[in-house]
Amino acid sequence: MERKMEENTIRDNETGSETGGEDALVGNVNKLMVGPPGYSGAPRKGHLVFDACFESGNLGRVDYISEFEFDLFIRPDTCNPRFRVWFNFSVENVCETQRVIFNVVNFSKTKSLYRDGMSPVVKSTSRPKWQRLPAKNVYYYRCPDHRRNYVMSFAFCFDREDDVYQFAYCYPYTYSRLQHYLSSLERRNLPYLQREQLGLSVQQRRLDLLTITNFDLPSPERGKKLVFLTSRVHPGESPASFICQGVIDFLVSQHPVAQILRDHVIFKVVPMLNPDGVYLGNYRCSLMGFDLNRHWQDPSPWAHPTLHAVKQLIVQMSQDPRVSLEFYIDVHAHSTMLNGFMYGNVFEDEERVQRQAVFPRLLCQNAPDFSFSNTSFNRDVVKAGTGRRFLGGLLDDTSYCYTLEVSFYSYMTAGSTAPVPYTEETYMKLGRNVARTFLDYYKLNNLIRDNRPTHIQSSEVKSQTDDSNGKDDGVGRDAADREMEKCQGVRH
Ligand SMILES: [Zn+2]
Repeated sequence: MERKMEENTIRDNETGSETGGEDALVGNVNKLMVGPPGYSGAPRKGHLVFDACFESGNLGRVDYISEFEFDLFIRPDTCNPRFRVWFNFSVENVCETQRVIFNVVNFSKTKSLYRDGMSPVVKSTSRPKWQRLPAKNVYYYRCPDHRRNYVMSFAFCFDREDDVYQFAYCYPYTYSRLQHYLSSLERRNLPYLQREQLGLSVQQRRLDLLTITNFDLPSPERGKKLVFLTSRVHPGESPASFICQGVIDFLVSQHPVAQILRDHVIFKVVPMLNPDGVYLGNYRCSLMGFDLNRHWQDPSPWAHPTLHAVKQLIVQMSQDPRVSLEFYIDVHAHSTMLNGFMYGNVFEDEERVQRQAVFPRLLCQNAPDFSFSNTSFNRDVVKAGTGRRFLGGLLDDTSYCYTLEVSFYSYMTAGSTAPVPYTEETYMKLGRNVARTFLDYYKLNNLIRDNRPTHIQSSEVKSQTDDSNGKDDGVGRDAADREMEKCQGVRH
């Protein structure tokens, strides 16, 4: 078979490459016992059993190299062999103290945070909290054995015979997890939260839309400001879901900032734009192999139904004189950069450029892991079909469209000497910080006056100031968050 050189087939690092995809792996391994070649007896302890037939699972093939070493093949996105990044699989039937090396041999990307210390995440039956493997056990290199593809190898020592181990590219956040979270929100009967089904995916999964605002206020008092947030158009970018949940958690909380925001702003959130892709364990595409974030210009109701529904709603709102759509933010995760940061659009009008930089600047003050210097504004041709670019052209000059990106791996803060790996919790924390930044934005622009009695305002300011010099768990855990957790009660 013709093997094209990798360099010739790579376009930009977001379109993926064909290399390594020729074998057209279809389907995930299903309780596959991988023993020595020729072995046909009953599995013995230590003959590893691999499985990825579960939600968001991805592992296409396993090759036995030796008792200690296995080559693993990522299953390409459904109907699109160019994308092979996300993996998520379980291993069982292990021996106590069994040491193995797993080589993931068919990544479609070459640049990777594995060079900077990123590592896969792991959990097991008896230790159900995901954690990152130690970086020292992970190697990323160009391998002569695999068509000179980049290979990520990691060493692992199993330690409990009865445990099922699970490995993934990053902390999974499945469609079902979202459904449970949204149901638990609904059960709280919050007067300022509405959940509706905006549409269905190709495989008939729910496209959820949340509206968060103080519905009790008559519309002119509530104001017309509308903020629209979407996430998980790219299914493998699971950190986006943690951020999105952080935003929602904050907005529905009893935190005083959240209360003021609900009085003045209507928040619309679509937490999962590509539910099929997430369910199937794809990295970038929908069931039918479309990168939905390249189809905003002309989404089809049958091929891209979720995108079509969201776009229709946004277009409709942009024409509704009763609301003013001021922010559109689409949340993603980034596979080569550190920190949280944003992409924005470029404009001829210098004043508009400056205004667009305000929100990221304010977010940078609130979130120590958010980097304004990584934030950039562009008009690349390849990004013309993205939500940010398309809506940036559609909406008027008082609205701002951003892509919010967060590293799959880690962040550096002003004082830190080494990157701090993100956890599920610190991703959510970034979401909470995004949410509260809207109040800073609207206060700065005198669009929201804080009408609460001065003693409440000053005590809040004080508690936040106190905290910024005080306790810090690495992402500047502050009084606002402690207060929110107290108010919120239920943790998810
Ligand atoms: Zn993305």
